[in-house]
Amino acid sequence: MFQKILIANRGEIACRVIDTARKLGVRTVAVYSDADRAARHVAMADEAVPIGGPAPKDSYLRGDAIIRAALDTGAQAIHPGYGFLSENPDFVDAVTAAGLVFIGPSADAIRKMGLKDAAKALMEQAGVPVVPGYHGENQDAAHLAQQAQAIGYPVLIKAVAGGGGKGMRLVERAQDFPAALQSATGEAATAFGNPAVLIEKYVRQPRHIEVQVFGDGHRAVHLFERDCSLQRRHQKVIEEAPAPGMTPRMRAAMGEAATRAAQAIGYAGAGTVEFIVDAGQGLRPDGFWFMEMNTRLQVEHPVTEAITGIDLVEWQLRVASGEPLPARQEDLAITGHAFEARLYAEDVPAGFLPATGRLAHLRFPDQARPDQVRIETGVRAGDAISPWYDPMIAKVVTHGATRAIALRALESALADTEVAGSVTNLDFLIALTRHPGFGRGEVDTGLIARDLPALIAAAEPDPAALALAVLGLARLDDPQSRGGITLWQPLRRTIAWDGGAALLEVLGPGAARVTLDGAAHEIGYQGGRWWVDGSPRRARIVNHAAGTSVFGDGALTLVPLDPLARGGAETGGGLTLSPMPGLVKAIFVAPGQQVAAGTRLAILEAMKMEHTLTAARDGRVAEVLAQPGDQVEAGAPLIRLEEEDG
Ligand code: ADP
Ligand code: ADP
Ligand code: MG
Repeated sequence: MFQKILIANRGEIACRVIDTARKLGVRTVAVYSDADRAARHVAMADEAVPIGGPAPKDSYLRGDAIIRAALDTGAQAIHPGYGFLSENPDFVDAVTAAGLVFIGPSADAIRKMGLKDAAKALMEQAGVPVVPGYHGENQDAAHLAQQAQAIGYPVLIKAVAGGGGKGMRLVERAQDFPAALQSATGEAATAFGNPAVLIEKYVRQPRHIEVQVFGDGHRAVHLFERDCSLQRRHQKVIEEAPAPGMTPRMRAAMGEAATRAAQAIGYAGAGTVEFIVDAGQGLRPDGFWFMEMNTRLQVEHPVTEAITGIDLVEWQLRVASGEPLPARQEDLAITGHAFEARLYAEDVPAGFLPATGRLAHLRFPDQARPDQVRIETGVRAGDAISPWYDPMIAKVVTHGATRAIALRALESALADTEVAGSVTNLDFLIALTRHPGFGRGEVDTGLIARDLPALIAAAEPDPAALALAVLGLARLDDPQSRGGITLWQPLRRTIAWDGGAALLEVLGPGAARVTLDGAAHEIGYQGGRWWVDGSPRRARIVNHAAGTSVFGDGALTLVPLDPLARGGAETGGGLTLSPMPGLVKAIFVAPGQQVAAGTRLAILEAMKMEHTLTAARDGRVAEVLAQPGDQVEAGAPLIRLEEEDG
């Protein structure tokens, strides 16, 4: 086993790897960008080395700086986590050339699976079923259109170098093919530097089922499947294992195909073979097709760990240090069911835009039974979600004897998760755990899109929670004091917050009245719990740096009114502000240019997606305040139009 390893990543996955390294007695070196100086992974590691500026290209993607840090600190091996350099074969070559061990597959295996078209051809040869389609060299538009016709509509155009759903276009009719092809190749060229595409039969009601594989370069085993069908725009939201409705015959067929895929490239380390399944046809041993292989540890690996009892990072370290595979196929078995939900700082009503903020309050559910609830996180209370990286707050993982038990555990673990200081997708995740079809295991990748309105419906404003928050805002809540309500402050006050005001009256020990919009609510504290208008409330009032939150049955946060903060915020007319933190990809206008309402002004990239910003009205551009390549915060001014005359 290694004595010391370097983790070339950040956030939850860096922390996750450090946890296992510590368990095995392996010392750890973290690397960090200027934005992560105070991050959790830096605090957790035995040593930490700064490697550059906040933009990934200046730090976490700088292989040279990372290898230098490993050599300087005497680390013997580098764990890449996921994302960043984890699937970069040139980095693997450089690590090896420096005399270090890359904790992952060989550069050759990564190259073979790196391009979707080559990987499909290779899998076909190995006898693994692949999605019907065209993955040839000829990229001539007319030829591709002809292939699409032969496959039969609907078809999916995919960037061969693609990932994260980019460069992918669904085409329903032949007449839409040329335009879709053009935009897919354009996006692929900008995002991956490679315009080549492949064409696949579009599966109407797809399920995404993937198989965890593990090799030591000689042998490979599989650790069963995960179902990742709960997706939003091709991004996984909740994953589970095993797949609902899976039969032993189909599992054996998929496991065997995945192992064959790994063996075909002499795979070493953790990998995932992704398959697509047609939910319309049910789960059948001949009804799954290879999509791609991810040659790294996957975000959702904990659900596999939960049902197998295996620490996949421990396996990675063992195999990379030269030990053989720690288990044979027949030693592996599934126990119970597991779910993982990805908790993000994102603004769901605004279209799931990534958000930033300082986590003024952060509390996770009890993890006293790690076999039931497990939290993987890279942040602590007080930490910031910065605009530079993906806005993940945590992965909430639950395990139970049955799917129903594990799902209920997920619902309550999410309900017991408290975040203040940033908007999150928590309510959306909770709504998903309560979705009846999901509850029955009727999953496909279209579920979220079909039921989106119901899943993101804002909860009715809850006056009782608001009344409790008013008490907190006035700093009158105190479960320690007699009756839970402190009595030493003025007995009758107006409390104002950003968005409203209320009259607060302290009536006596343990009793207060909050009048909101003319309606009076009686608050009491008795028997260790809050009561509003005579009914008990499962509520926790938390005062923090950003204001006051009330948790329990959803979260409500009131931000105190700060008269100073208001004055400077006046932006004046004509400004186009960045709606989210992101990277300015393009600016289409110059000062002096006349634009009409709807004219494209700029493209902003955030969370792997591109967002086009358009002019809100006719006018002349006065100032361009950002440049392509700038990383901007939410609310940053980008373009200013001249004042409208009259
Ligand atoms: P998975 O199938 O494991 O969910 P994703 O495509 O969602 O794979 O990517 C996993 C994670 O890897 C993302 O959440 C993101 O944090 C990170 N990631 C993906 N691509 C990149 C990239 N080019 N640079 C940095 N991080 C990336
Ligand atoms: P990425 O590299 O972005 O992960 P994948 O090829 O793995 O791209 O596909 C991502 C998602 O796109 C899948 O999980 C599935 O939801 C959808 N998808 C991929 N191929 C097809 C297909 N042939 N038909 C229907 N949906 C598909
Ligand atoms: Mg994929």
